[in-house]
Formats: sequence, C-alpha cells, structure tokens
Amino acid sequence: MRELSFGEYLLSEELLEAIELIGFRSPTDVQSRVIPIVLEKKDVVVKSQTGSGKTAAFAIPICQMVSWEENKPQALVVAPTRELSLQIKEDFFNIGRFKRLKVSAIFGKAPFVNQVRELKQKTHVVVGTPGRIIDHLERGTLDTSQIKYLVVDEADEMMNMGFIEQLEAIISRLPNERMTMLFSATMPPDIRELCTEYMNSPEYIEVENQNSTLERICQERYNVEEEQKLELLRDITVIENPDSCIIFCSTKQKVDEVYQELHRYHYPCNKIHGGMEQIDRLKVMNDFKTGSFRYLIATDVAARGIDIDNVSLVINYDISRDKEGYLHRIGRTGRANKAGQAVTFVTLAENKRFEDIEQYIGFEIPVKDRPDKVNVGQMEQEFLKKISTTPELKESKGSKLSEGIIKLHINAGRKTKMRAVDIVGTLCNIKGMTAEDIGIINIMDISTFVEILNGKGEMVLEVLQKTPIKGRLRVVSKTDR
Ligand code: AMP
Repeated sequence: MRELSFGEYLLSEELLEAIELIGFRSPTDVQSRVIPIVLEKKDVVVKSQTGSGKTAAFAIPICQMVSWEENKPQALVVAPTRELSLQIKEDFFNIGRFKRLKVSAIFGKAPFVNQVRELKQKTHVVVGTPGRIIDHLERGTLDTSQIKYLVVDEADEMMNMGFIEQLEAIISRLPNERMTMLFSATMPPDIRELCTEYMNSPEYIEVENQNSTLERICQERYNVEEEQKLELLRDITVIENPDSCIIFCSTKQKVDEVYQELHRYHYPCNKIHGGMEQIDRLKVMNDFKTGSFRYLIATDVAARGIDIDNVSLVINYDISRDKEGYLHRIGRTGRANKAGQAVTFVTLAENKRFEDIEQYIGFEIPVKDRPDKVNVGQMEQEFLKKISTTPELKESKGSKLSEGIIKLHINAGRKTKMRAVDIVGTLCNIKGMTAEDIGIINIMDISTFVEILNGKGEMVLEVLQKTPIKGRLRVVSKTDR
C-alpha cells in the first residue's frame, strides 16, 4: 500500500515544515481518517486509544484553520487532567511553531492571576481542565466569543471523573456556530447522548487500533502475596533490566513505600502522585521524559494520555482500579509502533478483578513463574552496571523546531505601557527583518519576551543594544526562560 503523506492535506508550508521537524513522516491511522474531515469543518466523534496519535489528529487541522490575526481564542480543548492539558499544549505549540501560534494551558492548582494575564494577550488555542475553565468563564477572564473549534479529549475519563455537568456548562457558553470534536477510548451511552445533544450531525470514526496496541505489548502476570511484592519487583527489574520503567501502584502510600525501597537500593528513580505539588509533578514528568532517571513510581495520575516515548516496561504493582485503566497504563509502553512489555502482579484478592480485565481485552494473560534466584544472581552485575550509569538524555520533540529561534528579554513591560505593536514596529524597522521573523511575544509586568526566528536572533540582539524601543534604549538580553 502506498504510504500517505501530510503533504496530501493541503496544509500550509509552516505546518508541513514543523511536522517534518517534529519527526512525523506519515499520518497514523486516526490522523488519516480525522484530518480530512475536520478540514472540511465537519463535527467528528472519534473512538480511539491514547497512543494512536489522536492529539495531532485534531491539533494539525486546528492549527491550519485558526487565523493568526485574531487576538481572541479560537479553539478550546477540554481535557481531564493537568498533565494531559500540558501535553496537548506542547503538541499544539510544536505543530504551530512556525505559524507562531500562542497556546495557553489553564488548570487548577496553578496561580490564577498568571493565567488571567496570559489570556489577556493574543491567544489562539486554550487547553484546560473543566473546573478551571469554568472559573475563568465565571470571572469573565476567558473570552469565548471567537471560539470556533471545541475539542473534548478523553471524554470517557471526563465522565469517570464526574466532569459531565461542568462540561455541559462549558459547552453552553460557547458560540453555537462552532465545530465540535470529541475523542474517547470507549463510547458508553452517556457520551453518545452528549454527542447527540451538542454536536451537529457528527461523523463517527472508530479506529481499530486497540488490538494492534495490545499485540505490540508482551503482557505477563505474576501471582504473588502482597508482602512478597517488593522482593518480586526487585527480581523482575534485575532480570528485565529496562531502560525505562513505570511502576503503577494503587495509592500514594504504596508509591511512597515502593519509592523508598527502590531508592534504598540505589535505583535511579522518582515518584509521582496526586498528593504532590503541581510544580513537582511537572518536573518529575519532564525529567522522566528526557530520561534523566529510569524508574517512575506512579499512581494513575500518570496513566492517561501522557506522551513518554520509549517506556520499555510497565509494572502493575497493584492492578488498576478499573479495566479501562489497565489499557491506559500498559499503553505507556508500546507507543508509536514500538514493542513494549507489561507485567502485572496479582494477589489472590485481586483475582476476580483481573479476570474482568482479561475478559475486557479478550484474552488470557499468561502466568509466569517467579524468577529463579540463581538467574537473578547471574543478571545482577549487568543490572547494577545499568542503574549506576547515567542514561543518555533524550531530545524533546520540539528541540529541532527551536533551532534558529532565539528568545530575547527586554526590561520593559506592561507597567511601562509596552505593547506588542511597539515591539513589532521596532523589529520590523531593523534591516533584514520582517514580521515573519518575529515569533511569540509575551508581555509581563516589567519584562517582555520575544522570539526571533530564522536565525536572525543574534543580529537583532546586537542592533537592539543601540536602538530605542518606544522612545528609550532598553536592556535586551538572550534568555532561555
Ligand atoms: P497521542 O495518541 O496523541 O498521545 O500520540 C502518541 C504518540 O505518537 C506521541 O508520541 C506522538 O508524538 C506520536 N505521533 C503522533 N503522530 C505521529 C505520526 N504521524 N508519526 C509518528 N509518531 C506520531
């Protein structure tokens, strides 16, 4: 079969170039089915798993369709968790990098005022969790008058988390003249109802990728007593010696307990659970993504939608609270067509629940014998060698996109009445610069950040040392903030 290419979708050069630099060669199944329909401005309901490339399936056409000139938000993406919101924001940012799209993420447990400030500036796409979106709507800090595209992502999870009423409240405040896209891994009746109620004759697309995801993941089960789990965990990690591994536990206490144990044995590890501060959670996820440690011990907070490449092993230290959760957890491995491995510990008490999972995925997961101690002993040296060497850091998806882009800091901001037009005016007066070379401008209280594209940053930096902006010379420096 002929391989599809993104070039067939009549996307702008700016988008095609970004997609290529991100490393997407050809559309995934869900993308090839969703992108053309969305570009025709039809509502869609898409049943597909996380890991199928669904984020780009809505982000690519939205980036294509939004107008850069409009200052108010044109697309709103509602997602169940903060982590997923940030992930989606990053994907939009990368895809829209050369179109210079501004994307804001708004979610709870993060300072409200900062989000208000961000939303006051030019923003093309807003991604957020339902509660915080409502807060902004109620306080009038999120202008929805220009919203033309609504995405509801992971709708089933949103239902599970009890967000249905909030979701309806959000939808009721959006313009009727809009497109709606809904993505969900499962399609329970209440989601179908939601679609009938709020969507305009949507096309239903079902992407049969569940099996292929499952087929790529080697799944195994170990029967174990609760008090032997720590020992089994150590043995399995020695034998499998993964490059990167997520260990899922049912509670934060368990996460702490497993973390302490692995830490004691000098595993390069860290933990994430809902009881941690948001800022710490983000840092942990980022460090895990870039590969600065190999073992992440997590509650289900980390199971949904989070895009981490190359997780070689998922261990369900406790089984997931529901059967869908099992798929989401193991879906952290075997992503983007790579092979993966998932191991589940099952106690006698969990037997029945595990059978439900097996029924759900449609096959029985083979039971493995506990690793032989002699084998474990033989593998120990190799294991110790790996955990004591620092892993090679992975490049982020956006890193290639940032080549040729320099961010400048100017020591003037809103308090000195600096506006985007002042910056653009000055920059466009510099010989060799056009509006196309100016990236995202962020005006804070006493600072302004501006991106200069196309390798012209150093030149602009030099010129601005001697060129006044809004009537005065400013301190301008390079920054990576
Ligand atoms: P998602 O289902 O959106 O979470 O995406 C799963 C993974 O697939 C992410 O790591 C994406 O960056 C990656 N991905 C998305 N689209 C493509 C594509 N066309 N080619 C290769 N990888 C992709």
